[in-house]
Amino acid sequence: MLNQSFTEKFKKIQTPFYFYDIELLKKTAQTAIAEAEKYGYKIHYALKANSNRKILKTLKTIGFGADCVSANEIIRAAECGFDAKHIAYAGVGKTDREINTALDFGIFTFNCESLPEIENINKLAAEKGKTADIAIRINPNVDAHTHEYITTGLEENKFGISEWQFDEVINKIKSLTNVNLISLHFHIGSQITDMKVFEVLCSRVNQIQKIFENSGIKLPHLNVGGGLGVDYQNPDTNQIVDFKSYFEIFNKHLHLHDNQQLHFELGRAIVGQCGSLITQVVYVKHGRQKSFVIVDGGMSDLIRPALYKAYHKPENLTSAKAEQIYDIVGPICESSDCFAKNEKLNETQRGDLIAIRSAGAYCEIMASQYNLRELPKAYYSDEI
Ligand SMILES: *Cc1c(COP(=O)(O)O)cnc(C)c1O
Repeated sequence: MLNQSFTEKFKKIQTPFYFYDIELLKKTAQTAIAEAEKYGYKIHYALKANSNRKILKTLKTIGFGADCVSANEIIRAAECGFDAKHIAYAGVGKTDREINTALDFGIFTFNCESLPEIENINKLAAEKGKTADIAIRINPNVDAHTHEYITTGLEENKFGISEWQFDEVINKIKSLTNVNLISLHFHIGSQITDMKVFEVLCSRVNQIQKIFENSGIKLPHLNVGGGLGVDYQNPDTNQIVDFKSYFEIFNKHLHLHDNQQLHFELGRAIVGQCGSLITQVVYVKHGRQKSFVIVDGGMSDLIRPALYKAYHKPENLTSAKAEQIYDIVGPICESSDCFAKNEKLNETQRGDLIAIRSAGAYCEIMASQYNLRELPKAYYSDEI
């Protein structure tokens, strides 16, 4: 249950809104950094999970670098204090304008997803008289065993460069004067909860690193991306992800050569559990087959259930009555605007506050104005 001390304060705020538990965010972030530092690993926070300024400033202070997927994210990261030297930049469709922005900032690496992109970065860097540090984003053909929309490391996905292209890419890079290959990059998907997947990734990274070494390429950096999942079913018993086991896997299975720096790009695992969407019950509608709890928050505020059939645990913050079974739905004119089906919730009435839990990652940032609704505001545990 979300900390009850906040419920009284929530009653004074216009719903729906995002609420962030800053204490939990800090504890999660500090745990991740402490576990990574045991092995000298560097974590870049993936801004696309949540690019809220207060969250970014907090994570920067705790010691994260940044992982960006657009020039606007690079600008946002810089505005929130991240040093450009710690910004990695991925994305299959980087435009000239975006590449030029990144070159001007002098970022850590461009994680390159295709040969034409590498050639274009070389051209744009040459025009500025610069040399761009790049990583090749590898498509390792590893199944992340997650939702098909958030799997990125299979050959059928649009991301990265596959093994059959390595010779051509290596020869090309050797011939280019304004790009400098410093790293290989891997990111195979998101919401990965089976830790075995990361073991498989490690052995693929070892194999691929060998191929590059056999071509005479020794790299000072290696970046294994993110994707570590959170427990959406049990946001209270599993508040903080098992970072210890996660980093142990890489320490045990990944072969780094001397002085090679390993990088991670975690998003969801850092911010997922610290956020909730707080919404109010507009009506309870009893049908013959079902009872519907209709809340004022919807898919425009939090689209993940509609987009990926994702589960976010709903909780009635204001009723202590016995549990009933409900569908919890939003007000928007789409059947997919449904937070949960056949869900147990304390007996609910008009006016009750419902928290939609584990909404710190890929929620507020995906909000839209569909149905001409207002964008939800954000509130923080240390400010309300
Ligand atoms: C989205 C993304 C991440 C973060 O993924 P999480 O599942 O949130 O950890 C990391 N790297 C890249 C390249 C991404 O696109």
